[in-house]
Amino acid sequence: MSGSVTYGFIGLGNMGGPMAANLSAFLAADGQPPLVAFDTAGTAERAPKGAVCTADAAAVAQQADLVFLSLPDGPVVRAVAEAVARTPARRAAAAVDLSTVGIDAARDLDALLRGQGMAFADCPVSGGRIGARNATIALMWAGPADLLEAHRPALESFAGNIFHVGPEPGQGQALKLLNNFLSATITAATAEALLFGLTQGLDLKTMLDAVNVSSGGSNAGRDKFVRRVLTGTFDSGFDTALMAKDMHLFAESLREAHSPEVFTGTTEALWQNFCDAMPSSDHMEIYKYIRDRNPHPAGPAEEDES
Ligand code: NAD
Repeated sequence: MSGSVTYGFIGLGNMGGPMAANLSAFLAADGQPPLVAFDTAGTAERAPKGAVCTADAAAVAQQADLVFLSLPDGPVVRAVAEAVARTPARRAAAAVDLSTVGIDAARDLDALLRGQGMAFADCPVSGGRIGARNATIALMWAGPADLLEAHRPALESFAGNIFHVGPEPGQGQALKLLNNFLSATITAATAEALLFGLTQGLDLKTMLDAVNVSSGGSNAGRDKFVRRVLTGTFDSGFDTALMAKDMHLFAESLREAHSPEVFTGTTEALWQNFCDAMPSSDHMEIYKYIRDRNPHPAGPAEEDES
């Protein structure tokens, strides 16, 4: 993009915090204006060094040309987007939503922001907190290609893979939700499989070593189970409530589309029940939930004598 651009960032949590830090470092190194940041839970503690900390979303909209959002869910993003769009003397001409909000919510945001004369991209991310820290996350950009190209250097400062998945807001969400459905299903299936192995006297590390170079290996097995389950830390930085939200959004969209359904209901119910039982857990605690919900039987089931 020609001329200097001021970027804003609202939501500095597990994902937004490290994304904003990478963007801020890029802007400083490139001699561009500092990032303008806001988070309701406390901006000063969460904003990267060198960022301008503001008191609310409206202040970001007044100071930044383009505002990134990394917020928990659709209703929060909607409220913040309304505040941004309706800010008096607004400078922001575009918003890029990096959150997972669902297909309908992304379309509503597009209508809201375009109605107020702003450009919008639905751009959910994948790769977790570690990927955000290492700037290796994937961006699933749905929206105007010229907006993407105009801001590509800034996007590349915090993402390793950028996919322009389509022109229509909602398409990014569709891809993100189907990705998370795969991730949620494979993560739960891996936990179930490993717990079975334990009943056969197999060692957890040995199972992961073998499965991870065999046909049952997956990103969940190679990354999340090795780093978060084997170590006993269960600290991936992705809350169970967010995964349960994503599964609900995926199931709703799949059914609305009359797309074939085999596993979706099971995955959706499992993550909702897990979330109800352990509401403030990390999503990798699914391993503990499955283990404790179905304790290993002491032996073969007793014959029914009736
Ligand atoms: P998080 O809860 O860690 O961070 C959200 C941040 O938004 C918090 O710091 C919170 O204080 C702030 N916030 C909430 N309401 C606000 C408001 N009205 N104004 C300003 N700030 C507000 O969540 P996260 O894990 O960073 O996830 C953010 C989004 O990215 C979610 O939609 C999530 O589904 C998605 N996501 C998360 C991961 C992950 O691994 N954590 C990966 C991919 C996508």
